[in-house]
Amino acid sequence: MPSTLLSRRDLDFLLHEWLRVSELVERPRYAEHSRETFDDALDLAERVATEQFAPHNRAADLAEPTFDGQRVRLIPQVRAALDSFAETGLLTAGLDATVGGLQLPHAVAAACFTWFQAANVATSAYPFLTLGNANLLLAHGSPEQVDTYVRPMLDGRFFGTMCLSEPHAGSSLADITTRAEPQADGTYRLFGTKMWISGGDHELAENIVHLVLARIPGAPPGVKGISLFIVPKVLVGPDGSLGERNDVALAGLNHKMGFRGTTNTLLSFGDGAHTPAGRAGAVGHLVGAPHQGLAQMFHMMNEARIGVGAGATALGYTGYLKSLAYAKERPQGRPVGAKDPAAAQVPIIDHPDVRRMLLAQKSYVEGALALVLYCARLLDEQKTAPAEADRERAHLLLDVLTPITKSWPSQWCLAANDLAIQVLGGAGYTRDHDVEQHYRDNRLNPIHEGTHGIQALDLLGRKMIMQGGAGLTLLTTTIGDTVERAGKVGGEAAELADRLAAAVDRITAVTRRLWADGDPVLALANASAYLEAVGHVVIAWMWLEQVLALPAESAGDAFHAGKRQAARYFFTVELPRTGPQFDLLESRDRTTLDMRPDWF
Ligand SMILES: Cc1cc2nc3c(=O)[nH]c(=O)nc-3n(C[C@H](O)[C@H](O)[C@H](O)COP(=O)(O)OP(=O)(O)OC[C@H]3O[C@@H](n4cnc5c(N)ncnc54)[C@H](O)[C@@H]3O)c2cc1C
Repeated sequence: MPSTLLSRRDLDFLLHEWLRVSELVERPRYAEHSRETFDDALDLAERVATEQFAPHNRAADLAEPTFDGQRVRLIPQVRAALDSFAETGLLTAGLDATVGGLQLPHAVAAACFTWFQAANVATSAYPFLTLGNANLLLAHGSPEQVDTYVRPMLDGRFFGTMCLSEPHAGSSLADITTRAEPQADGTYRLFGTKMWISGGDHELAENIVHLVLARIPGAPPGVKGISLFIVPKVLVGPDGSLGERNDVALAGLNHKMGFRGTTNTLLSFGDGAHTPAGRAGAVGHLVGAPHQGLAQMFHMMNEARIGVGAGATALGYTGYLKSLAYAKERPQGRPVGAKDPAAAQVPIIDHPDVRRMLLAQKSYVEGALALVLYCARLLDEQKTAPAEADRERAHLLLDVLTPITKSWPSQWCLAANDLAIQVLGGAGYTRDHDVEQHYRDNRLNPIHEGTHGIQALDLLGRKMIMQGGAGLTLLTTTIGDTVERAGKVGGEAAELADRLAAAVDRITAVTRRLWADGDPVLALANASAYLEAVGHVVIAWMWLEQVLALPAESAGDAFHAGKRQAARYFFTVELPRTGPQFDLLESRDRTTLDMRPDWF
């Protein structure tokens, strides 16, 4: 039975036939690896995700975490799964050997992790957050901080969080008020409230390492005055032993629509619930220099944003595969034009409208997976390309693609989950099938790690115009390279390439037009339409790239034929959606801008 979590055939195609990850083993960082070690890691991820993560996905949704005022309780399968995950060593798959990592290419590590997100996105959130936290400290922490906090996290003994949001400050982190008072011994005491903190409290690990944004008194206003602190739930001694309970307390759990297996918390820092060294105040350790907190956090957020896109993709993918399996089994109705009411019913996949819904899902989830893995491959380039110019190029392209890789799957793989429910009909609307949970779980993704609207401002207001428009130029010329290769191939690839080239020209023209007079108010008024249109062009590019990776002669291969048909679908049905969006943007439409709040 093929898996209904992800398609291994698709992963192999993307990683090997398209992204050619095996060629990376020629680089020193990956010299210990081979195609076999990559495949072994993927096999292991699939097996542990299938056997340990998928079985309690529904149970953790139905029995969400509870708090009795003292302790947070989760169903026991969560801890058992996380213990199994720690044993795989996959938490450190992409990390340096010096910290015990496997030094797998990011593209392979990302593909491995996608199995866990597809199987159980809520349980996989704990290692996801822990890895992001550890990566940030590896980049910005002191050697002592790495030894004290990162190593136990990588061993699976400590878990990590990211504490940015406050009840009054979500999108606008400039307005956070948590304060960090310097102490004579070089530590800080933190006071404030953090909201929405995922994995903020539980007993799944010996300790929780909170990474907290706060202001040091006298700091400059706004984002330039935010610093980053390590605040452990339990204080850690110089020898690594666990000591007193720190003054971080769970004020309450949030009860969510989805992602229910991940605790989501309101945390109080320094309100005296615990009194380390006899007094209130959460003991914190500054990471790096003061006032660098947001820049440092962005290190983690960029990675987290691509990870959110990967999670959205994984949920879309498994919903697609489950609705596909259902459509092949479910008998209902007869073909249009069938005359005999006594004839056997056909499976619903025989109805063109059901195939439309499946094809739309396939084009979204396989397009999104390609983008996620392409970005992971760019991370490998950024880290290991022999020429510095190539490393810089990968860095800039990744910067431009990050808001799209976060937002496009969050929007369209959620749309895929919506279609998966529709394919199942009434059954899709019940809790007897997984697809309704996938939809609820996926609905978080356009909200956290920067909402859809915030990603749109980032793309149009920063990424496309930074370095004098270098981001825009790099994106369009990189797509242009694909167009050129497809043109040389000729036939259908060249036809698709012409359509893609026309859409790319519109991105350039529209971006210039929007910024013609440099007025950000008007330029950014329809930024969401811009994000969506550019996102669709980028996914069309991913589809053309996949078409080019197919062998020229593969008429009899169903997988290859399916790829070609999904590419055709995306270009025929989806890419034209961008026309009206580009028209709206080109006209510098003021409708939303001129709508006054008192007219609603
Ligand atoms: C389940 C869950 C888990 C989370 N996990 C974490 C976590 O682990 N750590 C953490 O720090 N945070 C976490 N968050 C918080 C999350 O990042 C915020 O919810 C998100 O950034 C939005 O902030 P907000 O909820 O305050 O909404 P608001 O910022 O109030 O936004 C509300 C609406 O207004 C729009 N908006 C706001 N400002 C602008 C603007 N300038 N321009 C255009 N539109 C704007 C937004 O796009 C949105 O549609 C989590 C949230 C949830 C729901």
